[in-house]
Amino acid sequence: MIIAILAEQAPEKRVSLLPEQAMSLIRKKVTVWVERGAGERAFASDEQYLEKEVHIKERAQILAEADMVLSIHPPTESDIQQMRAGMVLVGIYQPLFNQELIQQLKSKGIIPLSLDMIPRTTRAQSMDILSSQANIAGYRAVLLAASLFPRYFPMFMTAAGSIPPAKVLIIGAGVAGLQAIATARRLGAVVEVSDTRPAVKEEVMSLGAKFIEVEGAADASKAGGYAVEQTEEYKQKQQQRLAESVAKSDIIITTAQIPGKRAPLLITEAMLNSMKPGSVIIDLAASTGGNVFGTKNNETITHNGITIMGNSNLAADMPLDASKLYGKNVLNFLQLIITNEGGMDLGVEDDIVANLKI
Ligand code: NAD
Repeated sequence: MIIAILAEQAPEKRVSLLPEQAMSLIRKKVTVWVERGAGERAFASDEQYLEKEVHIKERAQILAEADMVLSIHPPTESDIQQMRAGMVLVGIYQPLFNQELIQQLKSKGIIPLSLDMIPRTTRAQSMDILSSQANIAGYRAVLLAASLFPRYFPMFMTAAGSIPPAKVLIIGAGVAGLQAIATARRLGAVVEVSDTRPAVKEEVMSLGAKFIEVEGAADASKAGGYAVEQTEEYKQKQQQRLAESVAKSDIIITTAQIPGKRAPLLITEAMLNSMKPGSVIIDLAASTGGNVFGTKNNETITHNGITIMGNSNLAADMPLDASKLYGKNVLNFLQLIITNEGGMDLGVEDDIVANLKI
């Protein structure tokens, strides 16, 4: 079997498998190809791939001949036209949002395995690309906010005067949010956190942040770790509590998502108008509509002197570790479907494989 690593389109800097990771496939009797230059922006050169016995190929040959193609983003229209029927694609396709793309792939006989559909079970944790990449996004979001903020994060008492600590509000304490809390605390900020799942309160407090309590959240205990839609009454109460915190905040990081739905709009125009100029908001939910009024995906805008960055792809800003973790997640998944003879078996009885076949 030939497994090929496709180059991502700029501005993406990550690559789906690093040279040293390709070796573990080769040991399993798989032939590995990589598109010329695919790893360059993640600091993995063609020479490094060659040293590990990976063959350098052009995109057209990969699309026409490989048995399985690894990537991060979905293929382009022109890629799909060139792909052969029966090819297996492994990447992030967000099938709940991209139903048209999935139909198009299937009508050409291409088999997509969407890594973002990995179930949230203990066994699947080592394959969970959403977690490995969200962790990086939460970390980068705080570093980015700190570099854009015109003030210090930590408190200082100096001969030239005292500096109060920055006030950070984090909305959504999932994987990205928890890492954002930890990073903001390490930099010395005072951190407040909102989440609709009361279960996260203890984790939030153990990181040294304050949890914003709102009574009456819908039960999310059966949603596999994800949030569920809230009642109108709850939403109103949450808005009131958030409005108070937003007005005091210097930095806001929003990460609130509900699978398959538009991200909830949590910071309204009126709330933005209550913030101080110079404040910074990073909206990590931008690709599904954003949590903040006016957010534009992949754009930075200003509103009354407040910087609002809509960026859902911050993991790409740290391409080396992001690729390393993504690649390891991919390898852990491939163990389930690669046979001892270096072939592929998609018929294995396995709940993880079944979930990815969309
Ligand atoms: P996510 O990206 O789906 O959402 C981010 C956070 O936003 C969630 O905590 C969610 O509750 C919150 N949120 C949604 N709507 C909100 C609103 N209106 N207001 C405030 N907050 C809102 O979440 P995630 O990072 O993917 O993780 C969700 C949970 O799943 C976490 O507890 C995580 O530890 C767990 N998890 C488990 C596994 C596993 O067991 N394999 C893997 C990954 C994550």
